[in-house]
Amino acid sequence: MDLNLNENQIMYVETVRKLVKNEITPHILELEKGHQFPWPIINKAWEMGVVNLCIPESVKGFEIDVFSSAMIIKEISYGDTGIATSAMCNDLANVVISQHGTEEQKERFLRPFVEKPILASFCLTEPGAGSDNSMMTSFIAKRDDGTHVLNGSKCFITNASYASQFTVLCKTGAPTSNFMACVVIPAPHLTSDDLPDVGGATREIDLPTGGRIIIGKPEDKLGQRLSNTASVTFEDVIIQPDQIIGNRRFGFKYIMDVLDFARPMVAAIGLGLAKRALDVTIAYTSERKQFGQRICDLPVAREMIVAMWKKVELAELSLLKAGCKIQEKAKDAGIYASLAKNTCAEAAVFCATEGLHLHGGYGFTTEYEISKLARDSHIIDIYEGVREVQNMIIGREIV
Ligand SMILES: Cc1cc2nc3c(=O)[nH]c(=O)nc-3n(C[C@H](O)[C@H](O)[C@H](O)COP(=O)(O)OP(=O)(O)OC[C@H]3O[C@@H](n4cnc5c(N)ncnc54)[C@H](O)[C@@H]3O)c2cc1C
Repeated sequence: MDLNLNENQIMYVETVRKLVKNEITPHILELEKGHQFPWPIINKAWEMGVVNLCIPESVKGFEIDVFSSAMIIKEISYGDTGIATSAMCNDLANVVISQHGTEEQKERFLRPFVEKPILASFCLTEPGAGSDNSMMTSFIAKRDDGTHVLNGSKCFITNASYASQFTVLCKTGAPTSNFMACVVIPAPHLTSDDLPDVGGATREIDLPTGGRIIIGKPEDKLGQRLSNTASVTFEDVIIQPDQIIGNRRFGFKYIMDVLDFARPMVAAIGLGLAKRALDVTIAYTSERKQFGQRICDLPVAREMIVAMWKKVELAELSLLKAGCKIQEKAKDAGIYASLAKNTCAEAAVFCATEGLHLHGGYGFTTEYEISKLARDSHIIDIYEGVREVQNMIIGREIV
């Protein structure tokens, strides 16, 4: 187990830090208040080669390992976790194609992401199936001509309003089936020129192969306002056999593989936010004086800053260990991914909450970034499996 970054990883980290320092942190509060979808930053990140990390070299992708991907996501999240969520979502949707798709499917569904800055959505959650995704009712039914037809509704789908492709998990045969399938639905490609900002509008896509996709109004969220989240309904969408990934009964296994990849990425999002909260808090409390001293020099306040620093360091260690376990394909990698997800989410919520407190009344105003970080932090403990689900996974393995 080597916890040092190699030359390549250092290069990636430095590239992303430059992007964050120049394009994100100086304008983040205006960007967030403007409610504009951050296409310019996503386009820059695409040009710099720090999105679409999982796409295999066989289709001219970067095929970046999980460990390096987490380091990249962490650095983007230091700038903004909403932008990181949008960027990471392409990999969330595409990793199942990288892992289980045929060469033809990789060429057809992954290569477009290498050729232009477009976005993908990963559609798992439904109104009645959140933490318990076995309760999903979206399903594909076979037709006489060998094609399938997909019907169902998904909710909270990242990038939905701007997506050019949808990876959908659904039941096979009937809504109550015990089997799940994973299907890919390419839509007409949308770049920033085609749809600079959807505003509060819905979007309908009539698919050339039959059926339509209806995307709801973007959710008005507490935080991560620079990511787009909306519901997606599939109405009589025709699925050709080559749009089904792997075996049409193995979808549940594929979800597990995707989530094993995604948990360290969400952990990285939490770590990036926690680090940012610590840094802005140290900066603020080093400037502001009360009782004749800098706030950071008041013993009880110093203790809290140390507590924040410890959370960040422990979160980083948990992520590095999970990264190493995944890299080594260790049998117990899953529980370390869950541990990292929980530890980093906890660090994010803790550092943002305590950091806001150390800013006093100023932290409660929108003028200070810490208030945005506090809003952004909560979802990290929820998406890609709430804290209790991670504990369930860990508990199941260790007892
Ligand atoms: C901004 C955002 C982006 C998202 N992006 C995507 C996306 O791109 N694709 C996608 O498919 N989904 C996405 N989601 C959905 C997200 O993954 C779900 O919200 C999450 O899995 C939780 O499901 P739920 O909201 O239905 O909560 P529920 O499952 O209803 O859980 C509510 C609460 O119940 C408790 N609970 C649940 N299960 C247990 C348990 N086993 N034991 C004890 N307590 C429990 C927990 O306290 C939990 O917080 C996103 C959500 C948001 C808000």
